[in-house]
Amino acid sequence: PDDVVVPAEDLPRDDADDGSGTDKIRLEAQLREALSEEVLRVRYQPIYDIRDQRVSGYEALVRWDLPGRGAVSPVEFIKLAEETSLIVPVGEYVLDRVIALLSDLCQALPQGPLPSIAVNLSARQLVEPGMARQIVSRIDRAGLPPGALKLEVTESRMLDYGHVASVMAHCRQHGVPFALDDFGTGYSNLTHLHKLDFELVKVDQAFSRHMFDSPKAMAIVDAIVAMAHGIGAEVVVEGVETTSELRRLRELGVRYAQGYLIGQAQGAEAVLSGEAARIGALL
Ligand code: C2E
Ligand code: MG
Ligand code: MG
Ligand code: MG
Repeated sequence: PDDVVVPAEDLPRDDADDGSGTDKIRLEAQLREALSEEVLRVRYQPIYDIRDQRVSGYEALVRWDLPGRGAVSPVEFIKLAEETSLIVPVGEYVLDRVIALLSDLCQALPQGPLPSIAVNLSARQLVEPGMARQIVSRIDRAGLPPGALKLEVTESRMLDYGHVASVMAHCRQHGVPFALDDFGTGYSNLTHLHKLDFELVKVDQAFSRHMFDSPKAMAIVDAIVAMAHGIGAEVVVEGVETTSELRRLRELGVRYAQGYLIGQAQGAEAVLSGEAARIGALL
């Protein structure tokens, strides 16, 4: 029942071709096909609660295996999808998978604790007409408890803050916490923190990766943590690959860590069976 197929003819037409080559056009056509044939996969990367010393949730990461080309990085096709509005059906596809998995988890773990799953949404998706309503109605229909679904907001140069804030408020009323993703890089900036409310701030791996060889990177992580705590948000640090990084993050008061030390993204079966969470205390 969760296998909702988006018929190709219902997909938005290309309205944003800047003519930058046939590669892109071919890729776009292939992405449309991938959607209708359901060859996109959603993988789940564990997120570790440093305080409670256990996996407390996952981030859903979309994957696209293209025959003859191998795995296409979401960095590449999400950008393309955003430019062509294919991001809307891609996002719905991911959301459907995640809600279905959370429902299954609710049934499998009636006594809880239920792991949360975070879905990436570009701000462009968030303000798509009807998006908030769709998210909320899916949550209600599945009867998910508050906090089960989280949203990570990425990207966006030009934000209509008023609009985004009202969409976020609507989702939040239905128990959806928000994370500001990739904080400190690209367009993910201080103004977002100032104008919008986030329960979580995710520190990009650009900083965590260099925490030990660069005092600057360490100082930046430290400052982000202080700032996040100052506005009442918890911190998730991405790209954690070593125990010493994890130990340092605990000293800094960081609540959550994500990265290859904890685990790579895994299939829904590993999440449902609890296999993906079976790592025990790391510190
Ligand atoms: P992100 O949300 O910042 O996701 C984290 C990325 O870092 C993932 O790459 C993950 O595989 C990678 N990563 C995690 N831990 C480590 C580590 O310890 N070391 C290293 N070197 N890398 C690590 P991925 O899956 O390639 O995703 C890239 C980006 O694509 C994501 O960045 C996210 O912004 C975007 N994305 C992925 N899925 C979706 C989606 O369903 N919708 C939207 N809108 N964007 C998505
Ligand atoms: Mg993310
Ligand atoms: Mg991120
Ligand atoms: Mg990132």
